[in-house]
Amino acid sequence: MKLLARVLALFRQSGELKPGSGMVSGVIALALALLCLLGVAAFHFPEYLSTPELRRQYSVDALRQLMLVALLLAGGLSLANIILGRQRWLSGTALLAVLLAVAAGGPQVPVGDFPAGTPYIGIDWFILDLLGSTLVFVLLEKRFPLYRDQPVFRVEWQTDFTHVLVNHLLVGLTLLVVNLLVHRFFGWAFYAPLQQAVQALPFALELFACLLVADLVQYWTHRAYHELPFLWRFHAVHHSTRVLDWMAGSRLHLLEVIATRVSILGALYVLGFSKGVMDAYILIVGFQAVLNHSNVRLRWGPLKYLIVTPDFHHWHHASDRAALDRNYAAHFAFLDYLFGTVARSDRPFPEKYGVLGDYMPAGFLKQQLFPFTWREKQDAAPADHEDSR
Ligand SMILES: [Zn+2]
Ligand SMILES: [Zn+2]
Repeated sequence: MKLLARVLALFRQSGELKPGSGMVSGVIALALALLCLLGVAAFHFPEYLSTPELRRQYSVDALRQLMLVALLLAGGLSLANIILGRQRWLSGTALLAVLLAVAAGGPQVPVGDFPAGTPYIGIDWFILDLLGSTLVFVLLEKRFPLYRDQPVFRVEWQTDFTHVLVNHLLVGLTLLVVNLLVHRFFGWAFYAPLQQAVQALPFALELFACLLVADLVQYWTHRAYHELPFLWRFHAVHHSTRVLDWMAGSRLHLLEVIATRVSILGALYVLGFSKGVMDAYILIVGFQAVLNHSNVRLRWGPLKYLIVTPDFHHWHHASDRAALDRNYAAHFAFLDYLFGTVARSDRPFPEKYGVLGDYMPAGFLKQQLFPFTWREKQDAAPADHEDSR
């Protein structure tokens, strides 16, 4: 019981893991082992725990090999720590999770035929995206840090990690709702000759057009979120993070996620972009959104006037009064130059991030409820944001 309490306490802590103490390797081993346990569950119940859109893209055999590597790594790290006497409570728990995953079938769980069309949560999407994003972005943040002292498990990481988790698990529900709404609101505008003309464009031009249309819609919906007080209550959730890193961009109100996607995908649907271009767009939007919130400092040169970089989007999250309601674009920085909303400063990065007054509660659920409860609790706060414009 004491061990369980100690492991659970780990999830409530934040701050740097002391290097050389067995904490870093222990946490990696535990995280990998827990993901393997989730993966084994997804092998057992693929109809409920895997994402149909993703299943078409990967081979189950490759996933089995990936799980084997993860199990070996988690088992090896935790065994080494146990032998060396480093954080035995942590590595012992990780080893227990590895053994449980193996006992439950590990990478060998047979996956037979299963019915299509079942309601599901995207466990596979969560595991794969978390592994990939952690690997790419944590390495980038360590190699090119903007704030060198900012730890991976920084303040309120739990809140943003929950946003990441829920966004991934609800992928099926969001896709369903967004598709229904896109057809409901934009179905009337379906015009085949327009779609054929768009699809006749060369790939690069079609992709550029797709990103430009998406960003024009995004720019104006985003600006509306800032300028209309009712919408700001929802968008304030995204701005409430005081620390920016690869997880921070996922802090979003679910209704905002749905509304923004419906307006962007609706416009793209009406224009009829081809499947290849849409796939590329989804990859780019996912990568750029995470990168732009990351704790990185890279040299962009003149590119920074053209595309949205982390430098540019960090200013969007600044709580310096002069930078409020600036830098709305998500792909092309020139849109803000065009519409006169670019943040100007003689400093390369802002000093403080977050909402003025810091009125947002921590915790996923409280943030989802915030737009509906702020009036009673936080009368002055969102008005403060309006005054500052
Ligand atoms: Zn914003
Ligand atoms: Zn942002």
